[in-house]
Amino acid sequence: MEKEVARRTEQLEQLMLTDPLTGVGNRRMLIKRLEEEVVRAQRYQRPLTVAFFDIDHFKNINDTYGHSSGDMVLSRVAESLKSGLRDCDLLGRFGGEEFVVLLPETTMDKASKVAERMRADIEHMRLPQITRSITASVGLAELQDNESGEDLLERSDRALYRAKADGRNCCCVDEI
Ligand code: GH3
Ligand code: MG
Ligand code: MG
Repeated sequence: MEKEVARRTEQLEQLMLTDPLTGVGNRRMLIKRLEEEVVRAQRYQRPLTVAFFDIDHFKNINDTYGHSSGDMVLSRVAESLKSGLRDCDLLGRFGGEEFVVLLPETTMDKASKVAERMRADIEHMRLPQITRSITASVGLAELQDNESGEDLLERSDRALYRAKADGRNCCCVDEI
């Protein structure tokens, strides 16, 4: 009985942290893991980089192909991102058409290469019935001394806005 309760509790926790459409972690999971990774990185003086992905002109994809095709695009983008992860990286759907990748033990130099490869993989996906390329813009920020997870995420979001302004389908680094 106790075992069964423990199993059910674990199942529920897993459900609470998972995005039902794409099967990757949800925003709750991301915030939880971000906080844990920030504490660890600050304590042991280790690098940590965040990559914020946002699909380009996604509203237009929905408008052109319909909402269920839009859902399919989201699932495929999540799959593509997942296949580009290294063992220690963490992927979650932050919301809507936004995905965040946490890259522990990774400085900006390496993280920008990983993110650029993931961006290119999305661009090269081919999806049934969708005749155009799906692209995403990416904002990157590396944790600074004494920085909070919230501030780190906000800087990656700021870099994402610059990537959008620079013409989309590109990665942009928040230099401080
Ligand atoms: P930008 O290149 O500037 O990012 O433009 P955008 O169109 O991607 O951004 P915008 O924020 O205008 O639109 C996001 C759209 O994502 C609007 C919303 O309807 C759609 N969306 C959010 N969640 C889902 C979902 O779960 N499924 C589908 N199909 N669409 C979603
Ligand atoms: Mg968005
Ligand atoms: Mg978008």
